[in-house]
Amino acid sequence: MKLRFAPSPTGFLHVGGARTAIFNLLHAHRSDGQMILRIEDTDVERSRQHHAEQIVSSLEWLGIQWDEGPIYQSDRLDRYRERAEELVRAGRAYRCFCTIEELDADRTAAERVGKSYKYSGRCRAFAGADTPRDQQHVIRFAVNPGAIEFHDLIRGDVRFEAELIDDFVLLRSDDYPTYHLSVVVDDIDMAITHVARGDDHLSNTPKHILLFQAFGSVVPVFAHLPLILGSDRKRLSKRTGATSVEEYRDLGIVPDALFNFLLLLGWNPGGDRELIPRDDAGALFDLSDVNKAPAVFDAEKLLWMNGQYIMRMSAEQLEPHLRPFLAEGTPGLDVIRPIIELNKTRSRTLKELAAQMEPYFAGDDAVAYDDEAVKKHIKGDELPVRLGNLREALAAAEPFDATTTEAALRKLAESSGVSAAKYIHPLRIALTGKIASPGIFDVAVTLGKERSIRRLERLIKRLDELI
Ligand code: GLU
Repeated sequence: MKLRFAPSPTGFLHVGGARTAIFNLLHAHRSDGQMILRIEDTDVERSRQHHAEQIVSSLEWLGIQWDEGPIYQSDRLDRYRERAEELVRAGRAYRCFCTIEELDADRTAAERVGKSYKYSGRCRAFAGADTPRDQQHVIRFAVNPGAIEFHDLIRGDVRFEAELIDDFVLLRSDDYPTYHLSVVVDDIDMAITHVARGDDHLSNTPKHILLFQAFGSVVPVFAHLPLILGSDRKRLSKRTGATSVEEYRDLGIVPDALFNFLLLLGWNPGGDRELIPRDDAGALFDLSDVNKAPAVFDAEKLLWMNGQYIMRMSAEQLEPHLRPFLAEGTPGLDVIRPIIELNKTRSRTLKELAAQMEPYFAGDDAVAYDDEAVKKHIKGDELPVRLGNLREALAAAEPFDATTTEAALRKLAESSGVSAAKYIHPLRIALTGKIASPGIFDVAVTLGKERSIRRLERLIKRLDELI
């Protein structure tokens, strides 16, 4: 089996495109086949080299490894021209000399009588004739009437009537191929056995089948992937959130989580299993199991899944992905390992994880107190005395571990007849500035005795202005 992912470099890698790449990759790997990466950049108006590079780097970031490529169609223009001429010689395509004005007039006339426009076939008379190559023209494919039928792995049996298909253009007047020509020439030359692509290409497929047949080549197996809808049940777009792989990376999604999430857009392994590591997916995935119905992109589920991946990753695995989210000058892995470990179970994104880690790197005199936290927990006349006692109790805790610090705090609460929460919340604000954090004794131990005491003393000093 040989499959291909064939993006057009007209923008960032869309999550729908990334899903197409994943489905192609997994189907190829299931049978020890191959996947090639082909950049479809023959539309010079819309294609940009930097988009091609961004797409390649997004695929790399997602961990999608192709076996061949990237192959740029713009390097193969002569090949498309050569094959179009072959069809002209065989009488399957013809030169069309109609001018834009003539075509426009036909189109207006059709519109006036409420008919949908179709090329008149005026130049079809030239099919098989020896026509001049130096006069401005396009090359059109001569579509013969009849049914075009194929079995789509996802959509099932599909049938189109050739009568409804125009004599479509293969080569434009500037000698550039249309998408239809380049895609089929390449799929033949690259020996593609399976074409999995978005549903939006379904109406192009009969044209492609006619071309495969005209070239005398085997028609590949097709699989048209269902549309991806946003939370508004319309085609996924900027309206309802991010659409590119880069944006999700910048929001702090880890590649394995995005891979897993996209894999489940239109496919599931049966049962309610949701976390499917990519190494397992290869053995389970089959294009024929993909749903026909559109898939809905549930951003909340992606965040949940990302949290599950972050929680399961080691500090070593997380660190390279996390690094761009940490402030410059943040210490190396050896120092931050315990801080990552402590916070990773509470973060849905790398951005959140980085924000939660921030108080540990702040100077002890620079912890920013969250207003809401202060309003809720920094009050009462007894607080100065209470925190003074807590300071003493913590200073005496030896060794300074989670057990001794917790025991010290609870004993103090008991002896003063108030709940432990009356000590815990202010302590959390002293140490992290925040209303929520990992277990506060773990936080204290991670900071160490000296820094914890210093932070507590600072809060005590500032109580006058806070209460
Ligand atoms: N280049 C086309 C696109 O980006 C895909 C063509 C194909 O897979 O056949 O939509």
